[in-house]
Amino acid sequence: MPEAAGPTGNRRRVALVTGGSRGIGRHVVLRLAQDGYDVAFCYQANKEAADAVAEEATATGARVYTARADVSDHDAVRDFVRGTERELGPLHTVVSCAGIVRDNPLVLMPPQDWEEVVRVNLDGTYHLCKAAVFAMMKRRAGSVITLSSVAGVYGNATQTNYSATKAGIIGFTKALAKESGRYGIRANAVAPGFIVTDMLSGLADDYVREMTARIPLGRFGRPQEVADLVSFLASDRASYITGQVFGVDGGLVV
Ligand code: NAD
Repeated sequence: MPEAAGPTGNRRRVALVTGGSRGIGRHVVLRLAQDGYDVAFCYQANKEAADAVAEEATATGARVYTARADVSDHDAVRDFVRGTERELGPLHTVVSCAGIVRDNPLVLMPPQDWEEVVRVNLDGTYHLCKAAVFAMMKRRAGSVITLSSVAGVYGNATQTNYSATKAGIIGFTKALAKESGRYGIRANAVAPGFIVTDMLSGLADDYVREMTARIPLGRFGRPQEVADLVSFLASDRASYITGQVFGVDGGLVV
């Protein structure tokens, strides 16, 4: 069941994040709450983790709304967006963060791994923006931030499915920027490199060493470092920036 927490009746901006219970999404939720937003986020399954994030965000003074919602489910995302606007008020910022990997060389990739990654990463981004953007356009203000990846810009072996969705998200975001800019909406994509979250937990030690050696800053990134960029793109400090793709990768693909 959806739940709301925190004080009511203030005029803070409202931000919504998909996949906010852990990883980059968790840090985006906390950063936006610290920035002064009321924040909604959805989670896939782990209510305990979501409750812990909600408690941390509420401690900053933010009102927080959480709901269990699978981003690959059109109606679930629509209901989550509606619930957010009902509980917290009109949306200003949406961050499409939920994403998965199902890595395999193409020749070994079963159809379900292709389809699942497309449904979550690409369809999920469509579902969120479809549900949220029209009302934002009518209010003539808002910021859409999508999570792409260096894999979407340059490709990555064993990730044809993931790279295709992350490249698709870039095209989606640029098209959305073009069609919604005149209504006051900015849309930008963030393309992280290697960021230390559960998503990287399957990487072999040798591969981690090899990749670290290729990164000019000499280390993997922290999810907070992605959240800092999202915070900037959501804010009025980015008021003349739209249709762009921003790498956060320690110089990996320079
Ligand atoms: P993570 O695995 O730590 O977290 C993923 C989040 O997405 C979780 O909160 C999970 O519950 C949520 N999620 C997954 N499937 C979902 C679904 N069907 N419905 C709702 N929520 C769902 O991953 P992360 O590293 O925090 O990744 C966040 C985003 O950043 C993803 O889009 C990912 O592709 C992108 N990214 C991550 C890295 C990295 O190195 N970690 C690099 C580039 C891009």
